[in-house]
Amino acid sequence: MSASHSAIPPAGSQGADQRLAYLAYHDVLTGMPNRAALAERLEQALERAARGATVALLSIDLDDFKLVNDGLGHSAGDELLRQVAARLESIRRSTDLLARHGGDEFLLLLELEPDADGPGLALEMARRIAQVLESPFTVGDAEFRIGASVGAALYPRDALDAETLHRHADSAMYDAKTSGSGFAAYEPSDANPLARLTTAANLRRGLEQNAFFLEYQPVYRLPELELIGLEALIRWRGSSGEIVPPGDFIPVAEKTGVINALGGWVLAETCRQAREWDALGLHPNIGINISPRELHRPGFADELVRTVRDAGMSPRRLVLELTESAWTVDSTRVAPALERLTAEGFVLALDDFGAGYSSLSRLRTLPVDVIKIDRAFMQDLPTDPQAVAVVDAILALAHACNCDVVTEGVETEAQLRFLAQRGCRLAQGFHLGRPQPAGPTEALLSARLSGTRRSAA
Ligand code: C2E
Ligand code: CA
Ligand code: CA
Repeated sequence: MSASHSAIPPAGSQGADQRLAYLAYHDVLTGMPNRAALAERLEQALERAARGATVALLSIDLDDFKLVNDGLGHSAGDELLRQVAARLESIRRSTDLLARHGGDEFLLLLELEPDADGPGLALEMARRIAQVLESPFTVGDAEFRIGASVGAALYPRDALDAETLHRHADSAMYDAKTSGSGFAAYEPSDANPLARLTTAANLRRGLEQNAFFLEYQPVYRLPELELIGLEALIRWRGSSGEIVPPGDFIPVAEKTGVINALGGWVLAETCRQAREWDALGLHPNIGINISPRELHRPGFADELVRTVRDAGMSPRRLVLELTESAWTVDSTRVAPALERLTAEGFVLALDDFGAGYSSLSRLRTLPVDVIKIDRAFMQDLPTDPQAVAVVDAILALAHACNCDVVTEGVETEAQLRFLAQRGCRLAQGFHLGRPQPAGPTEALLSARLSGTRRSAA
């Protein structure tokens, strides 16, 4: 309870009016300014800034708070919030306003000089927030760590009014959370010409109208080029018949939460298709992509297990492809779900390995069965010695961890030869087979049954 703001003045010690005025602008739990205080200060700051200055608004949201609240009880949750408030308060500069917006969300308002580097300062502040929250918290006899995700929006760059600025800071915070990056600055999404199409409402309508379908890309074993499985990839049939790739709608689906419904559809459709192929004597392993946000939803693992069981499909045939952020964001919440899925026999794949902020050393600690090397690495193979060294290192480490490795994005015969020589056992890419709808995929699976094979050797 050491926030530098004083606690609520006791009744009677001051006039009732003063007490009421205090309560109107302060958060009872932490003694910090509340959202009304922030709203007022923000309006004033924007008025001042209209003469040429910059304002940065940072939205700060704790990553594992719900876990503490649910696991240790509300009074522990309250105590944690007071401690977090005190730590955040310790890095607030005298000109900033720090407010509790509600729940486990805080807002930091920075008023900057006209010539200040707004984006740089917002990033610097986010770093200090991460730093000050880094050491463990002690509540009762429990000790634990808690992270935070921070999003920033700037006036006048990102918005000209208080409400929009706040909304953009929140949306950046959500980006930081889903990507696991800890910090994100607001990025306008309507730079995308398909933004009109990709609203949450349109996505939901697409689901109702059956506008989504799956394509399947084959995965091959090297060097014999044996077809060993498929990756299911979602597509959207637009109103004029055009096919919209997932890169144009998955990010919006993630941001708006529609990804939960979409992911549910992908799983159901994959199971339905698997059953149809089973009846024909075709039993491919199938990979599906799972967004971090789906994995974070309580009950996700239970529902997945139930759906797959009801479909009579063996979990061993379903590869769950997760990017590394799935493990790093809110890992305390996600770990039990992953353990459950591993125990049920599902195969876990670490997708896009090497893209973003993955680290070789963390690989040992993650419970994965398969590593998919991001296709960015493939581009410079086999000519660039540095890319060769990196891929070699990943292969060696993955084999030491007893993981299978799939290299993605194999586009040329030279790359395929190189990978086969280096002992890479699994590969996927346009050179081997493009994603195709169920019909042609079925023909491919049948051909494999009848023994048609090529070889990379
Ligand atoms: P991803 O999981 O890395 O999927 C592989 C992507 O690489 C696919 O793009 C595939 O078409 C493309 N690809 C495969 N071989 C090659 C190649 O040789 N060269 C190049 N340049 N590209 C290749 P796609 O289908 O556009 O999917 C993009 C991303 O969208 C996926 O990346 C995945 O992250 C996401 N995604 C796709 N389907 C789903 C889904 O059902 N759920 C979720 N949450 N995400 C999905
Ligand atoms: Ca994938
Ligand atoms: Ca991938």
